[in-house]
Amino acid sequence: MTLWLSQREFSKRAFKLSQTRRHLEHHPGTNPPSFTAVVEEVTEEGGVILSESWCYPRGGGQPGDTGIFMIDGKSIAFGEVTAAQSILHPLLGSGLANGDEVTCVIDRDRRDSLAKMHSAAHIVSAVANERWGAITVGNQLNTESSRMDLKFEDRELFDKDQLTEDANYWVHEDVGINVHQWGRDQIMTDDRVRNKRFVERIIDRVGGDDPQLRMVEVEGIDLCPCAGTHLPSTGPIGGIVVDKVQNKGKGTFRVNFSLID
Ligand SMILES: [Zn+2]
Repeated sequence: MTLWLSQREFSKRAFKLSQTRRHLEHHPGTNPPSFTAVVEEVTEEGGVILSESWCYPRGGGQPGDTGIFMIDGKSIAFGEVTAAQSILHPLLGSGLANGDEVTCVIDRDRRDSLAKMHSAAHIVSAVANERWGAITVGNQLNTESSRMDLKFEDRELFDKDQLTEDANYWVHEDVGINVHQWGRDQIMTDDRVRNKRFVERIIDRVGGDDPQLRMVEVEGIDLCPCAGTHLPSTGPIGGIVVDKVQNKGKGTFRVNFSLID
């Protein structure tokens, strides 16, 4: 089971953000193209709000994009993108003003690493649910290693080497990763969607006549609502190593994993 947004976070991000999260239109979420936009506002804190942005804003355990703005032959870096009311690009230099037209160049290597890690996280979460009924209650992804908090029905049964083996089965199968826009009927009648009560609450919050969710499918193993960035298939993950397990109490283990090429 992989639910990347807690209900609170989903509510905060999906329903209060005034700007369109255009990165959602891209799948695969690797190799993001540069784009041109107009600076609408430079906030007092130095955050740039663009007329539109394809940057991934931090959320769901996945760090936001970083990159540079190009304007008049010079470049100005921006730090990790976040989303509050708008998508914010924290400026790491000076020289931008309202009305400027900039080319926004997302750090592709970083995005690609995070898309790879995020895709691996779907697998880790799903196989832990398949084998031990574990529920993912938190996760933090990074380019080098990531961690996932798994709450078990019976934690004593957990075996990290088995988790590594199960996860790598799906990597080696190189199954497709697909993104769907599905309405309520299709989601609620698909047996692969687990924790339907939770998903239905999300659908209710989207509201409207025909609410649609972005459903991410890792063929054969996972199907859940997700706003992250993903590979086109699991093969390019390379390999997954579960390298450390920490006790987080209340039936929960913090599982750390990294990737091998
Ligand atoms: Zn995802």
